Amino acid sequence: TSFGFREVNPGEKQGLVDSVFHSVAGRYDLMNDLMSGGLHRLWKDAMVSRLAPPRSGRRPFKVLDMAGGTGDIAFRIAERSNRTADITVADINSSMLEVGRERARARGLDRLEFVEANAENLPWADASFEAYTIAFGIRNVPQIDKALSEAFRVLKPGGRFLCLEFSHVDAPVADKVYDLYSFHLVPKIGRVVAKDEESYRYLVESIRRFPDQERFKAMIEAAGFSRVGYTNMTLGVVALHVGVKI
Ligand code: SAM
Repeated sequence: TSFGFREVNPGEKQGLVDSVFHSVAGRYDLMNDLMSGGLHRLWKDAMVSRLAPPRSGRRPFKVLDMAGGTGDIAFRIAERSNRTADITVADINSSMLEVGRERARARGLDRLEFVEANAENLPWADASFEAYTIAFGIRNVPQIDKALSEAFRVLKPGGRFLCLEFSHVDAPVADKVYDLYSFHLVPKIGRVVAKDEESYRYLVESIRRFPDQERFKAMIEAAGFSRVGYTNMTLGVVALHVGVKI
């Protein structure tokens, strides 16, 4: 595992990740819009469309939004389900959760639950949820295989896993443009807007080191999931991986 340009162990990586998100929490939502040119909204909408939560609330639909941070995915699921889904936002970072709770209050979403938890070691019983979502979160988790097997464990049989994450651009020219943008511009925007160049260097480096579409698919299968597949968005800048627990 690495952070920046040196090798670190899982505990050390988590500590560094935590300091990044404590540092950016207050500006996190603004920075997402700036860095992605608003695209993160479309990527997140696409994920929740794929989830397609039931709209009536007649049958139970419990979702765990892991690494849910400031609530973007949870709010979309709530609206799509006519506020009937039972949603738990879990994150390891209390600063991100605090921003999320405040945003939920402002939207009148009082049925959301915010829980401090580590994706590698979840405090829920086996077979607790119909769906597990994680958006731009798994890349930050030091031991991805542990997070995937915990996801598998807490899902009910038939439960679905959906993971949105930065991935690998596989298109001539576009890949070069993307590298230029991410290595040069992103840290500068981070410096000017968030006054935090280091955190955004981490962001770019962590994206570059994350396994590509096929390798990540194999990891999800190794955790026990069936019918694993992925959809690229924006030429593979982002990929949505899905799987089912049978
Ligand atoms: N899902 C939100 C979104 O799409 O806007 C937030 C994504 S944010 C880039 C990544 C989140 O992962 C942070 O809130 C961070 O605290 C969380 N995170 C990092 N390591 C984690 C871990 N081991 N367990 C749970 N959450 C973790």
